[in-house]
Amino acid sequence: MKPVDFTLHQPTSLEEALALLADHADTAKVLAGGQSLVPLLNFRLARPEHLIDLGRIRALKAIRRDEHRLSIGAMATHTSAGRSNAVLGSAPLIHRAVPHIAHQAIRTRGTIGGSVAHADPAAELPAVMLALDATIVAVSHSGTREIAAKDFFVGNLITTLQEDELLSEIRIVPSTGRTGAAFLEVGRRRGDFALVGAGTQLRLADDGVVKDIKICLTGVSGRPHRAEEAEAALQGKPVTQELLDTAAESVRDSVDPSDDLHATADYRRDVAGTLVARAIRAASDDAHRVTK
Ligand code: FAD
Repeated sequence: MKPVDFTLHQPTSLEEALALLADHADTAKVLAGGQSLVPLLNFRLARPEHLIDLGRIRALKAIRRDEHRLSIGAMATHTSAGRSNAVLGSAPLIHRAVPHIAHQAIRTRGTIGGSVAHADPAAELPAVMLALDATIVAVSHSGTREIAAKDFFVGNLITTLQEDELLSEIRIVPSTGRTGAAFLEVGRRRGDFALVGAGTQLRLADDGVVKDIKICLTGVSGRPHRAEEAEAALQGKPVTQELLDTAAESVRDSVDPSDDLHATADYRRDVAGTLVARAIRAASDDAHRVTK
């Protein structure tokens, strides 16, 4: 199918984009990489009268890091974030998650901001941003809001972003010290959205105990999931098989997956626990390698 007719706007500055959005807020859609939106347009599941393409706004593509902050522009692509040394050094969980997103062609066009704004509960980056306590920066013609990731994701494809707002940037406090990360998935075919995904980023103290741990899951509820009880079970302790088993069980108890054509809820729940235990082990091994 083909989309319904729309007017395409291609602003070259953020100010221009925000003015267009203010003029057409309830009839406009923002176009980023188009990897989710274009299929929705073609199936006529989205019928905007105006498309505001962010692709010519260079300022939105930047990835920057200073001592206190990693800043990823909304229009940075999955590929550019995956190849960025600033991302690898500050938030290795993003680096580990990116290769699991779709196929290379989609990663080349799909954007970090598009994925986070789209808020698919099966997508890797919304869950990763939740785990990393990212700050989502939303801009409109009337100002800027900083939204904690935990307050941003409301439900399946639903966020607290307003109709006249753009996601301009994602900010993350850089990791320090012996930090390791891992992202693991179970899916039916490579490149498809996974049935379940689990990511862990952790920092080890000099004596080997876990100082700071973040665990996220995809595909286990209507929005990205953070496994806070499993995090608490590991905090301040060395990674042992007994604690991994405890973490896995607490994840199985805390997630709320659904049955669908691809897998039962029970299968997803079981896999979620197993993947979290394996991801913690892999992240811990990764952190140990940092010291060598
Ligand atoms: P678009 O498609 O352009 O936009 C998506 C939505 O977000 C639209 O509603 C748009 O208006 C809004 N939006 C975009 N940018 C902004 C912004 N800056 N501010 C406000 N709103 C904005 N993703 C995964 O995470 N994992 C996968 O395994 C995966 N597999 C895929 C497989 C296929 C075959 C395809 C086609 C896609 C897959 N995707 C997957 C989706 C892909 O990652 C997309 O890149 C991503 O979901 C959306 O990014 P985009 O830049 O293409 O956004």
